[in-house]
Amino acid sequence: MPDNIKLQILPTGTMHADLTWLLLDPSRVMASRAEKNRPAHWVGVPTHCVFIDHPEGKLLWDAGVPRDWETRWAPTGLQEYFPVDEVTEDQWLDSRLEQLGYEPHDIDHLVLSHLHFDHAGQADLWNDAPRTRVICSKDEYEGAFGFEGYNLGAHVKNDYARLNFETVEGDTEILPGVTLLQTPGHTWGTMSLQVDLPDSGTMIFTSDAVYRSESYGPPSVGAGVVYDSRKWFASVEKIRSIAERTNATVVFGHDEEQITQLKVTPAFYS
Ligand SMILES: [Zn+2]
Repeated sequence: MPDNIKLQILPTGTMHADLTWLLLDPSRVMASRAEKNRPAHWVGVPTHCVFIDHPEGKLLWDAGVPRDWETRWAPTGLQEYFPVDEVTEDQWLDSRLEQLGYEPHDIDHLVLSHLHFDHAGQADLWNDAPRTRVICSKDEYEGAFGFEGYNLGAHVKNDYARLNFETVEGDTEILPGVTLLQTPGHTWGTMSLQVDLPDSGTMIFTSDAVYRSESYGPPSVGAGVVYDSRKWFASVEKIRSIAERTNATVVFGHDEEQITQLKVTPAFYS
């Protein structure tokens, strides 16, 4: 592993949503008859990208939420359920790139964990950036291009239709010390990112393979909006076994508590 990797977590705005979308957790979410009128349990659903300045190239993990989420998501109906209602001007991914001092085409590898609208929301910044490799898993690519119409759930074709993808299969070390892990279940081909850092140790970014600490457990707690629940549970255990073997810091996709305990840009891990 190179000794001069620098990794920055870039918060890119927070959605809010009913926790029922994220956790199938009877003890917390489902109401008994005595609680029929209990209000919905809305929680923060923060989003983040990860920027890695590596001696062999600059890598960006995920592409945030779009500035025009309200109109872009309107045909899906999901803008009413996942409003991006807590975001500051400096958090949008295009602002984050500016703070880093880069244009989209300065990124060598744009890796999309999966193509949901809150992970590929600004991937269209790379529509005309031919020198950037845009990477997702083969299964995600086939699923995301395998339907007709504007969207399928939170897959909005306009987010990614014009990108020139390279796809990967199996766990893939994309740069020395930087490995893409196949962790499907949330979608056809959701991936996680393992980064082995000289000082900070191993970090695993789960994206939506694990939403929150309660999803991880143990025991892991599934969700209603999962493409394949059996694969989802298997992926959580795959992450856990790698994390235990490497003593990794596991960074969940949308955990409002955890993100406050992590170092975020301009601070970095190395
Ligand atoms: Zn997702």
